[in-house]
Amino acid sequence: RALRDNMRRLVAMANQPAAGQGKAGRQANGHRTEVMGVVKADAYGHGLVPTALAALAGGATWLGTAQAREALLLRHAGIGVDRARILTWVNNPLEVAYDELIANDIDISVGTATAMEKVAAAAKAVGKPARVHVKVDTGFGRNGFTPAQAEEAFARLGDLADEGLLDVVGQWSHLAVADAPDIPEFVEETDHQIALFERFTRQMTNAGIPPKIRHLANTAATLSRPAIHYDLVRPGVGLYGYEADPAMGTPADFKLVPAMTLQAQLSSVKDMLPGMGLSYGRVYLTEELTSTAIVPVGYADGIHRSASGFDLSGSRHTSKPGGPVRVMTNDGPKLFRVSGRVCMDQFIIDLHGSAAELGVGVGDTVVLFGPGRGEAYAEPTADDWARAADTISYEIFTCLRNRVPRLYL
Ligand code: PLP
Repeated sequence: RALRDNMRRLVAMANQPAAGQGKAGRQANGHRTEVMGVVKADAYGHGLVPTALAALAGGATWLGTAQAREALLLRHAGIGVDRARILTWVNNPLEVAYDELIANDIDISVGTATAMEKVAAAAKAVGKPARVHVKVDTGFGRNGFTPAQAEEAFARLGDLADEGLLDVVGQWSHLAVADAPDIPEFVEETDHQIALFERFTRQMTNAGIPPKIRHLANTAATLSRPAIHYDLVRPGVGLYGYEADPAMGTPADFKLVPAMTLQAQLSSVKDMLPGMGLSYGRVYLTEELTSTAIVPVGYADGIHRSASGFDLSGSRHTSKPGGPVRVMTNDGPKLFRVSGRVCMDQFIIDLHGSAAELGVGVGDTVVLFGPGRGEAYAEPTADDWARAADTISYEIFTCLRNRVPRLYL
């Protein structure tokens, strides 16, 4: 439900008027920006097919995957071209069966000479033009034709289109720093990427392959840059209820709701004396008479070992807080933290008091992260885990392994 509602919100944001466009905005001149649900990497760990279906129910008309295999899985799950256009980035053109993509009506990104020739050859074999989106490198320095390659590449694409092998559907690129609208140099860099994107459009048009669909915006630009929504936007992390950089605001600021809740049941609770080391390496010592509890998930489930909690005053280790866990106590919900190193299948939390007095016992459900509904709930989010593990929310949920069962509500 949260995935569908987040998509509804993103569809609304994608069609908000840009500054100076007036209240009626795009709808007034009949232009609508479509939305692609980015469901690569098993839908950022949320489950490919259920997430795709929720995104479509929320108004997405496109789905995007990094790997060809993921795009084919969507079609094989019964998501036909009548329900969604699918674009696959195909980051590695060497291993891809392009003929299968063409036969399954999947749009293909082309950003290298190798990909261009392989797609054209596959189209010839299948007997049907391949729908391609030309990837241009406007400053990310990763995928796509660079300004130095553009002229030659576009001329060749024009020839292959004339031969009826390619249908040049789109032009696209990716932004590097759209998630930092408060840093002037980054705003400038995004402006520079946009200017280059426009220049590539002119070059493609001059080469006889004017793009029908242009797309550039990720979540951050969907939320903050209406002027570059073009024909299609490609939010990923927003669909899952997060903002690329928490500095942009909380999910609630954008009326997005973190979709994934990760919970576990305490598998053991016991009393401890002061001065006891917890877990590998003794990087955490109990300070008082206390109880500890075991949460039976570990790095083999995708819990980052870097979210371990160190607390050893005066030792060679600097203290650092571990990942947070919400536990229900007699006094209401309370936050505790990973205490000591995260192990392969479990981690320990120090309850800083007696479990009996706190009312905490084996089998209690604890929440590692969830929607984060305000202080009263003491509920951490994936952003809190990202801070504890020195990473980004994306990595927190994409790392969750398949042995963690997913339930859809
Ligand atoms: N477009 C491309 C090409 C991407 O690789 C990604 C994700 O990395 C996205 C869009 C979605 O980005 P975000 O999750 O920041 O919205």
